[in-house]
Amino acid sequence: MLNANHKKEWLKSRKSRVVNDVDVLVKGILDGDISVLSRSLTLVESTKVNERKLAEELVQKLIPFTGKSIRIGVTGVPGVGKSTFIEAFGLDVLNDGKKIAVLAIDPSSERSKGSILGDKTRMNRLSVAENAFIRPTASSGSLGGVARRTRESILLCEAFGFDVILIETVGVGQSETMVKELVDFFLLLMLAGAGDELQGIKRGIMEMADALVITKADGDNENPAKVARRSYQNAMHLFQAQESSWIPKALLSSAYENKGIHEVWEMIQSYQLLTTTNGFIEKNRNDQEIYWFNESLKHLLVDHFYEFPEIDTLLVKSKAAILSKQSNAFVEAQKIVNYYLQQLRK
Ligand code: GDP
Repeated sequence: MLNANHKKEWLKSRKSRVVNDVDVLVKGILDGDISVLSRSLTLVESTKVNERKLAEELVQKLIPFTGKSIRIGVTGVPGVGKSTFIEAFGLDVLNDGKKIAVLAIDPSSERSKGSILGDKTRMNRLSVAENAFIRPTASSGSLGGVARRTRESILLCEAFGFDVILIETVGVGQSETMVKELVDFFLLLMLAGAGDELQGIKRGIMEMADALVITKADGDNENPAKVARRSYQNAMHLFQAQESSWIPKALLSSAYENKGIHEVWEMIQSYQLLTTTNGFIEKNRNDQEIYWFNESLKHLLVDHFYEFPEIDTLLVKSKAAILSKQSNAFVEAQKIVNYYLQQLRK
């Protein structure tokens, strides 16, 4: 058994070891050690309580070195050509003397386990290129959790010194709204002539996009792509003016023929110049910080609320009372919150 003094000493030495570990990671990242970045990203993805603490400390220490990249979100339905586009785009960015990190949020990876590998092999030229880094992350868990991990991963990659950070997500669900709140520029990839005009992409997602790129504009698909571009460009003119004063664009690309890819990079650079000059990029990032602050607050409170014993039973009772018209939603909600507040006071 440890006596009290031993215990104190042990805790002190443990604490200093932990601090040292974080300091080693900080140094590794600032020195540009890619294996340390990988390890740190794994730490950030961990859900173990002690590792979460380390991750938070790590991110906190790196904050002063963050903020210098352009953060780009890329989305589109499966098969639209995201991986192929990102590889061509990434190589173009590298050609420009910049460093790029790709963080792929892969909602299917938990189920199939296969698509992560698929992405890796599809981006094989980019994944072996110096100054490029590809990190697929399984997006299991709550959206809030995924958002936090992605945010922290962005910050680590920025501190490491990447100039461009690209967040790839599959354009089928809620994750787009989340990604929009994490990036400076939001790019939507679309197919031409795929029948359904919006290809399951909700209008809301189109309205969030700073640019829309029609992919695979080659061969027989080149003309339909041109037609689609014009109609999307017209549709986008009808959207509300953006606070950034940026006018959303519709472009064409063919990753196969390497056409239109450099134009996308040039467009993003002109967006960066415009929004840096007019202050929007900073304002947007500040708004995003506050958005995530509010979201975190909500999640923490909700988690705490549901941890209380009896809440589940009370919920069942309340729902029954509401459905049998013995009570109504507001009264029942207030009752449960009162119970929660009472428990807090105990
Ligand atoms: P993702 O599921 O959105 O990541 O799409 P992929 O990048 O895997 O591409 C889906 C399919 O479209 C693959 O068979 C690609 O070879 C094909 N593809 C991707 N880019 C192009 C392109 O520029 N032109 C043509 N013709 N096909 C492409």
